[in-house]
Amino acid sequence: MSLTTQIRDQFTLFLSSDDVESICQAFQNIKKLIPQLSSTTSFYPTIRDAISPTVTFTTRRLFQTLDERWNFYTADRQKVLASPRKHVLVSGGGPCGLRSAVEFAMLGFNISLVEKRTIFSRHNILKTWTPTVEDLMALGFKSYFPNFQIHGIHAIGTRELQICLLRTALLLGVNFIYGEATAGIIEPGITIPGDSTDPTQWRIITNTAGLVVTNTAVNSTTDSNQESAPGSPRKNVPAELAFTAGEQNFERLEKHSKVDYFEKATSLDGAVLRDEASLPSEIKHIIPIDSLVIAEGESSKLIRHLGFDRFVTRFAPAIGIIVNCTFNRANAIEKKLKEFVVYRAQADWRETCLGKLYENGVEVENMEYMRFSTHFIVVTAKKDSLVKFGVLKENRLNIQDALEQENIDFDRLRDFARHLATAAGVPETAPLASNHGVNIFDFSCKGTLTKPFTTLVPSKPSENAHHPLVLPIGDSLVNPFWPQGLGVNRGFHSSIDAVWTVFQDTVVSRDIALNERDISHRMMMWFPLMPVLVNSGVQWKADPLTRYASQIPQTMHMNDVQKRATVTCLNQRILNALKLKLPTAI
Ligand SMILES: Cc1cc2nc3c(=O)[nH]c(=O)nc-3n(C[C@H](O)[C@H](O)[C@H](O)COP(=O)(O)OP(=O)(O)OC[C@H]3O[C@@H](n4cnc5c(N)ncnc54)[C@H](O)[C@@H]3O)c2cc1C
Repeated sequence: MSLTTQIRDQFTLFLSSDDVESICQAFQNIKKLIPQLSSTTSFYPTIRDAISPTVTFTTRRLFQTLDERWNFYTADRQKVLASPRKHVLVSGGGPCGLRSAVEFAMLGFNISLVEKRTIFSRHNILKTWTPTVEDLMALGFKSYFPNFQIHGIHAIGTRELQICLLRTALLLGVNFIYGEATAGIIEPGITIPGDSTDPTQWRIITNTAGLVVTNTAVNSTTDSNQESAPGSPRKNVPAELAFTAGEQNFERLEKHSKVDYFEKATSLDGAVLRDEASLPSEIKHIIPIDSLVIAEGESSKLIRHLGFDRFVTRFAPAIGIIVNCTFNRANAIEKKLKEFVVYRAQADWRETCLGKLYENGVEVENMEYMRFSTHFIVVTAKKDSLVKFGVLKENRLNIQDALEQENIDFDRLRDFARHLATAAGVPETAPLASNHGVNIFDFSCKGTLTKPFTTLVPSKPSENAHHPLVLPIGDSLVNPFWPQGLGVNRGFHSSIDAVWTVFQDTVVSRDIALNERDISHRMMMWFPLMPVLVNSGVQWKADPLTRYASQIPQTMHMNDVQKRATVTCLNQRILNALKLKLPTAI
């Protein structure tokens, strides 16, 4: 078989596979067929030029799409390539980690992404905003999923979104490590037997067990540092159920008001390994870093052990239940089902499926049905109704206690889910999906870190010592009340903002980088991020001013004192872009 045919066949496999392992395997095979990749610093152009002549005109469009953003960054990439500090590690391959990895790679960073799972199993359908979808299109989504409709409500499966970004990340040269978790940060000066990485650098280690913690100095409350093995369901939970009840450590929440809480970090420095004795026995990879991006989602242990405190707001108690049933495209009934959303607040709710459910003893506040790769149903349920149905064994006072694993009757939960599916019109022949068949979780809080960055400090400070930036993004930074659509839509911005920070830190200065990171984070918190305030995704670049800043002044409803406080923290570049002037003294 000719080389051309082999490359084409492997690339076809790369595009048609829909699980992480097959995509990565096909990609490895392509790399082996293009030996010049191992010695080049321009990974993407080399792989594009090798694949393009072997594929059809339609497939080639993917490269034309990616070229647009790639070419935009030519000058900035040269600056990054000339820098000695361009190793970035992103911990977590959810939508936000992948999105930031893609932007880092475009800018020429040497980027590794560590994801503890081996499969992208989440069927959750995300409602995305037009600018977010445009951004995804510019990163190849339409080439990977040609049937996707760009118009109308943009509902994208989390899995599909991850697959799109993974494929693009690989083409851009991202070193994707999966099935391993980020286990700790090693400070310079520690030698690891048999390791060839530079011991004068900061490094990350990975393993299959999760974070190794060296100290828990901030608070001595017990830390549940035991994670289930990657990809495996939690103990005692049937395979098709995914139990994701309350992700916060409620023992750490300090109450400030009826709704506001403060969650203190578990330790300031616990994730940093500062002597040989703290190294774990199992180390899979050792990766040098100049900057670290944490995209591990809301329950990130790294965040909690690197001194990040959080504000937590708790709303009215509510429990979310998500049901995924397999979708058989060949089944006419399943294909005909129409997407809908109904609320108990509607005057005619008794005539809707909510009314029928009520007659069967299943009480939910609202219900939304969508279809992508699965039949996807999301409802909000009151605790009392779940107790009445027998899903919750005891009616415990607060939701976290009520959702303790041993308080859930998983058979009744499955029955509850089936009732929901039937009410949505999903036939009995469509079983609960084997992954995330039913999810039950606390749906009533959101949290925000008190700061969007920190730096790693070596134990023996020296003038030339490097202090890597640590930047949390996505749900790790601000975990959303996602029915407001703020999950990936806002998460993408914090992801790309972090890329801008690392870029400025690398080629401009740390002070400016951190000043702008502070500003972009404040802006995100200040103004109600809505699709209309975000520029078209076609023009998104790492610089936040290309994405969402231009209309911020109009959205600020502040008095003069607040305005002054706000404006005086903006640097000149941003003041100019926003056409703002420093106010005179008051
Ligand atoms: C049911 C449901 C519906 C939603 N609907 C919407 C919606 O309509 N619109 C919207 O915008 N948002 C929605 N969201 C929210 C959205 O899914 C999240 O905001 C988004 O997934 C956040 O992405 P992330 O990458 O920050 O974190 P996550 O998606 O949580 O990804 C974190 C990743 O990090 C990995 N990880 C964790 N620890 C480690 C470690 N130590 N080492 C390596 N890897 C690690 C995890 O395996 C995971 O893959 C919804 C969420 C749910 C649950």
